[in-house]
Amino acid sequence: MFAKLLIANRGEIALRVMRTARRMGIATVAVYSDADANAAHVAEADEAVHIGPAPAAQSYLNVAAIIAAARQTGAQAIHPGYGFLSEKAEFAEACAAAGIVFVGPPASAIRAMGLKDRAKALMAKAGVPVVPGYLGDDQSADRLAEEAARIGWPVLIKAVAGGGGKGMRKVERAQDFAAALDGARREAKAAFGDDRVLIEKYVARPRHIEVQIFGDSHGHVVHLFERDCSLQRRHQKVIEEAPAPGMSQAMRRKMSEAAVKTAKAVNYTGAGTVEFIADASEGLKADRFWFMEMNTRLQVEHPVTEAITGLDLVEWQLRVAAGEPLPRTQEQLSINGHAIEARLCAEDPQKGFLPSIGRLVHLKFPDDVRVDFGVRQGDEVTVHYDPMIAKLIAHDATREGAAAKLARAIRHTEVAGVATNAAFLARALSHPDFVKGDVDTGFIGRHSADLVRPPEITNGVLARAALFVAESRPHAPGYDPWDVHDGFRLTGAAKEIVEFLADGRKTAVELLHTSDGREPAIGGTPVEPAHAAAARMPNGDIAVMCDGETVILPLYDPFAGAEAAGAATDRITTPMPGRIVQVLVKPGERVTPRQPLAVLEAMKMEHTLYAPADALVATVDVSPGDQVLEGAVVVRFAKEKSAAA
Ligand code: ADP
Repeated sequence: MFAKLLIANRGEIALRVMRTARRMGIATVAVYSDADANAAHVAEADEAVHIGPAPAAQSYLNVAAIIAAARQTGAQAIHPGYGFLSEKAEFAEACAAAGIVFVGPPASAIRAMGLKDRAKALMAKAGVPVVPGYLGDDQSADRLAEEAARIGWPVLIKAVAGGGGKGMRKVERAQDFAAALDGARREAKAAFGDDRVLIEKYVARPRHIEVQIFGDSHGHVVHLFERDCSLQRRHQKVIEEAPAPGMSQAMRRKMSEAAVKTAKAVNYTGAGTVEFIADASEGLKADRFWFMEMNTRLQVEHPVTEAITGLDLVEWQLRVAAGEPLPRTQEQLSINGHAIEARLCAEDPQKGFLPSIGRLVHLKFPDDVRVDFGVRQGDEVTVHYDPMIAKLIAHDATREGAAAKLARAIRHTEVAGVATNAAFLARALSHPDFVKGDVDTGFIGRHSADLVRPPEITNGVLARAALFVAESRPHAPGYDPWDVHDGFRLTGAAKEIVEFLADGRKTAVELLHTSDGREPAIGGTPVEPAHAAAARMPNGDIAVMCDGETVILPLYDPFAGAEAAGAATDRITTPMPGRIVQVLVKPGERVTPRQPLAVLEAMKMEHTLYAPADALVATVDVSPGDQVLEGAVVVRFAKEKSAAA
């Protein structure tokens, strides 16, 4: 076994790999960019090497710098994690050339599976069922449109070099094809530097089911059963589970045989995932699944497989990379119970799931489920990297048990400083259709009204916030609360008042001093404070974390008055730096709530900016192609006397 391993990654995956390495007695080397000098993965490693500036292209994707770091520290092997260099054949080759073991498959296997069109063609030849579609070299818009019509609507446009759902568009009708193709190409070009696409039949009631496989250098290939990753948003996985609900033994056998065949066709070694799309319009059927692609690396969702098999997949990867045979044969593998994983991300469901950046003022996880986290309290979520904060994984004897356990764990997760999808995840896990196992990739879209709801500012939340304010007051002698204009007043010895701006309205919470402490009341009625954590944001606002929801309550400042509350409603600004790719409105145009105004490309994805309310566009302050900073004005609305106040 290796004595020292370099991990060419960051965040939760770097920490995950280090955990196993440490257990196996292998020393670890972290690499980091300028933005990550104080990151958790750097603190956790035995050694750390700086490899460049914050943008991934100059650091985590910098092959020469990473190879140099391995040489300099004497690491014998490099684990690429997922993302970044994990599926770059050139990196695997550069490792080999430097005499360093790449913890992953041979470069030839990565290459064979690297482009979706070639991989599909290869699998069709090997006798694995593939989704019908067009894989041709003629990339003219006319030809692609013709092929789409021939395949039959709806179709899916996919980037040939795609990954992470980028450069993918579903098209329902011929008249929408051209615009969708433009969008897919733009996104593919930005993310992969390659705008070639393929077209596939859009499978009805699609379910994403994938098989974990493992090969070694002694010619063995086994499968570790399937995972269901049908809960997706914009073709990106949100909740994953193992095994797949409703999977019959016959279908499992057929699918895992196809997966093993796929791996053997490319002389696969190490961990890999063969992804299939299944038509679940009449339940899962053994003859209604097709190969989509193979991921030649460990997957984000590997913990659910670890939970049901009781194995450590990173350990298997390291053993295989060191030339050992697979630790178990197929007959020695079995499924135990059910596991579900949810991806907790810094993103705002209220704003179309835009990534949310900022400092994690408060971060606390429950301790009754597995949590693979990448950031700690105090860390910054930046625009440079993936907005995932952590993965939470619950394992139980039954699927219902695992879902309930995970929903509860997410409701008990506390995050302040960035918006998260926690409440959304908890609602999805508790939704009656999810609990029934009635899942497909349309689940989130279908139920979005149930799953995305504004946080509720209950009296209990207000009471909790008021108690937090009162309890965190400095009690130093000579301190005079009257010096601070922030909504806190002492009104004689027996009572305090804390005033908030809740939903733009001033709300006062009275705290009566009794022998038991402070008792909150609103409008004279006693209020039971919510069971929730609270924290103070850098700007002084109070964050209350309740049931996976974080409510931000500004203290009422009589000197700022209503102006602060109303400031943001007359314009739309960019939530993060990026590039404007489309402007969809003109000055003088009337817009309605949720109407798209412009499209911003940031973090390699396109994000639509929407109108918050009925309004009249006064000015449009950006043009397509503009590079914009965070907070740049996109659209200004006219002041209208009659507008809803
Ligand atoms: P990426 O590599 O970008 O993740 P995939 O090819 O793995 O792209 O597809 C991502 C998701 O898109 C799938 O999990 C599935 O939900 C959906 N999808 C892909 N192909 C089809 C298809 N032919 N019909 C319906 N949905 C599909």
